[in-house]
Amino acid sequence: MKEALWWETQEDGRILCTLCPRYCKIGADQAGFCYIRKNINGKLYSLGYGKSTGFAIDPIEKKPLNHFLPGTGILNFGTAGCNLGCRFCQNWSISKAKLDDAQSLTATPEEVVQLALRHNVPSIAFTYNDPVIWGEFVIDISRVARECGLKSVMVTAGYITPEARPEVYRYIDAANVDLKGFTERFYHKLTFSHLDPVLDTLKWLKNETDVWFEITNLMIPGENDDQEETKQMCEWILENLGDSIPLHFTAFHPDFKMTDKPKTPASTLTGARRIALSIGIDILPRLRSHPDSPLLARSSGVQPERRPLSLRTADPGLFSHAAKNDSAKGAFDAAVALKSSPFSNPTFVFTVNSTYNKRVLWPRRKNAPAEFFPICSSLKTSVR
Ligand code: SF4
Repeated sequence: MKEALWWETQEDGRILCTLCPRYCKIGADQAGFCYIRKNINGKLYSLGYGKSTGFAIDPIEKKPLNHFLPGTGILNFGTAGCNLGCRFCQNWSISKAKLDDAQSLTATPEEVVQLALRHNVPSIAFTYNDPVIWGEFVIDISRVARECGLKSVMVTAGYITPEARPEVYRYIDAANVDLKGFTERFYHKLTFSHLDPVLDTLKWLKNETDVWFEITNLMIPGENDDQEETKQMCEWILENLGDSIPLHFTAFHPDFKMTDKPKTPASTLTGARRIALSIGIDILPRLRSHPDSPLLARSSGVQPERRPLSLRTADPGLFSHAAKNDSAKGAFDAAVALKSSPFSNPTFVFTVNSTYNKRVLWPRRKNAPAEFFPICSSLKTSVR
């Protein structure tokens, strides 16, 4: 626990949290919407500081980041709680949890960085729940990581205020930002948040920072998969961010409070890819990858192509379906292209997220030494 940044006291004695656009007004002994920022004796505290719900090492492509340190592993961890209320949350066992001392690990910023160094990975991801809500911990870890030559990655919904953004991202090197839909109706009804602050964050990342970022759009049948909406989203990206921001269309599986929707069919993802291409989002642009890429360092003048938009699914059956189904031929073609891509191993693209999370993310040992952390590779399914 640490005294929070980004708050002020109101005339009525409540605390106004200015970290995210929710601007919670928090009474005595109460916590904000995200569960982990609490008013204690008239001061706001970050309960998530120094806590972790578990550590794991993954391929960086699983974030997904396809153009930042490709082909390397990344140390991942998160805390508990979230500042959004997505009814379709695919990580709800963490995002909807309150911090539980009995089931949380404790770690200082230096210990997190040492863990990454000991396991020889070049970067650390703040992920699983939205790292915005534990921004103080993010700042301290990413500062130490930079001093030690490691990179830091935010995996986030981008729901953060203009006041807090510069400090939280001060030592951040890369981000994957969820653009969960492209209508205010979707954001308001299904995430309990708003679209405009997310678009502001994307524009800020593009115009005001050197942070490498990629965008993920989770496509939910009947909610945000309308082709016209996808077209409008791609047009906005093209106009405001340019044609070379990697865009990932990912598949939904029924979870949390949205179990009445079917899984996303492969044809939706391939259709979205076609729309992005037709709008002019350039998926095979001249090289624009991160300068720290070890693959680029080795390329010695050869310009590798950018990978196509990735098709990522929690359901390995979806891919075999796509490979057999003519209407989903685009998915198969994309996978073949990935396989020949110089950037990374395509088996990383199709990962079994839900099984993975249940198996390894909940270490039960309080204050377990680092050797007991469940450092695991993710389950993978091969391109068939
Ligand atoms: S960070 Fe948490 S407490 Fe602060 S405004 Fe957002 S949801 Fe509320």
